[in-house]
Amino acid sequence: MKAVIFKELGVIEVQDVPEPEPAPDQIKVKIGYAGICGSDPIIVIGGLEEFPHQEGSIGWLQKPGPPHPGPKIMGHEASGTIVKIGKDVRSDFKVGQQVAMDLRNPCGKCYFCLNGMQNFCEHFSNHPGAMAEYGCYQPEALFPLPDDVSLETGAFLEPASIAVHAVDNAHMKIGDTVLITGGGSIGLLIMEIALRNGASKVMVSDPIAEKRKLALQLGADAVVDPLKENLLEVSKKFTGGHGFNVSFETTGILALARQLILLAECNGTVVWVATYQGNRDVGVPITYTHTKEITIHNVAPSPYADYKALNMLAKLDLKPLTTVFPLTDALKAFEAHKAGKDVKIMLKP
Ligand SMILES: [Zn+2]
Ligand SMILES: [Zn+2]
Repeated sequence: MKAVIFKELGVIEVQDVPEPEPAPDQIKVKIGYAGICGSDPIIVIGGLEEFPHQEGSIGWLQKPGPPHPGPKIMGHEASGTIVKIGKDVRSDFKVGQQVAMDLRNPCGKCYFCLNGMQNFCEHFSNHPGAMAEYGCYQPEALFPLPDDVSLETGAFLEPASIAVHAVDNAHMKIGDTVLITGGGSIGLLIMEIALRNGASKVMVSDPIAEKRKLALQLGADAVVDPLKENLLEVSKKFTGGHGFNVSFETTGILALARQLILLAECNGTVVWVATYQGNRDVGVPITYTHTKEITIHNVAPSPYADYKALNMLAKLDLKPLTTVFPLTDALKAFEAHKAGKDVKIMLKP
């Protein structure tokens, strides 16, 4: 079968590899769609930097670990159809059933997993990649797609779960004003979910015209080009001089992570959704956050949100976010991802 292989640092290739057969505890899936995630090119260049231990900190700090030496099949956002079920699998899954996958694999046994915090699992691993014609998975990686959710939409499960977790962490209230920096797939998924969660007005900032246009089409009340407009001035006008109740930073730009604090309304919440390279300080003005009672929240991708995301998929407008490439054109697809005009690129085997 064809598969997108991470061969070695900096190199991916479409290769012919043996078609996998399910182990007795696995389910074989014919892949429908596999999305390119913002983290995939980072994996190819050697993973996230190590997080150095912080002097004086307590407890476990999850580390990204050494970069995968390769080769391995890429892809962790996917959907497909069940074609075979291992003899020891105990589940209600049936051959022919359509499923979405979340290929993060918390151990289920450590202190964090047993306390409902699988996102901090001490023995975290990943199920096999999905940028291939077939993949074999333990049943806990599979989620049954409702009848009204297509395979294309189903492949949004994992990024949608991150958006659900981000909006949960924002503790939004009805009528909140919302700012989202970054109109990529996570930014726009957050926007769609925040609108359904009672946001009164949403503003999206992105330097790419196509993404601003899409944000408006999907319900944003205003968009900003941060390269041409002053985010502070536009935000003042948009919020009547009060600032935002809730804001989400999805670009990974440290200066924006800081600026969102300054654009927050009293009692506001700032959610840093992105991953930020390097272990740099944000430089939070502490008297300012104190007097304005500002809450800062991060987002560690959390599998608890998968079922909530699954329920949301049919409610979200995801077609306009999607660009499909044949799996055999994966290298072109990764180039297009780098160019940044497409929101979510899916590979179709
Ligand atoms: Zn992802
Ligand atoms: Zn665990």
